[in-house]
Amino acid sequence: APTDLKELLSQITERFQMITKDKNIDIRKQFPKHPVYVDMDKDKMVQVFDNIVSNAVKYSPDGGMIMIQMITRGQAVDIEITDEGVGIPKESQEKIFERFYRVDKARARNLGGTGLGLAIAKEIVQAHGGRIGVNSVWKKGTTISVTLPYSIAKKASVGE
Ligand code: ATP
Ligand code: MG
Repeated sequence: APTDLKELLSQITERFQMITKDKNIDIRKQFPKHPVYVDMDKDKMVQVFDNIVSNAVKYSPDGGMIMIQMITRGQAVDIEITDEGVGIPKESQEKIFERFYRVDKARARNLGGTGLGLAIAKEIVQAHGGRIGVNSVWKKGTTISVTLPYSIAKKASVGE
């Protein structure tokens, strides 16, 4: 069903801002002014962004900033989650979407989790006709981007 992705991401952002309140992490958002209706399974899409944002929090240093950005283009909407965390070495970047893959086994064990989050996220995003990618610099930070099909014209039929 068509759901306002801006509303969905705002709620996720607020939830993580609350969770990280006593940590020194600054979560910011940059969204378009208009709603962004996307056809989606809402619960599944929440799972996707929960995982991406929780990774960003998990791998952020104290005092780090996380930016959640949404940009609409002609036929698509891009959502980018950028952190200032440990980053991912080039040779691992393709693998993080594989099941059970974790970059640093020892560190990953300390931080908990199963290594399934991004594999599940990728499946869900692809089932929505979208794609997910990573852009990261080791020791500088990581951007995970999700692109979903989006049509401004669809707005008109929403809420009928
Ligand atoms: P789970 O999500 O199942 O709790 P997980 O977070 O370890 O476990 P994924 O979300 O699939 O698993 O991520 C896979 C691996 O990719 C992580 O273990 C980590 O090594 C790396 N990774 C993911 N996101 C980031 C990030 N923002 N910064 C640095 N490394 C990351
Ligand atoms: Mg995860």
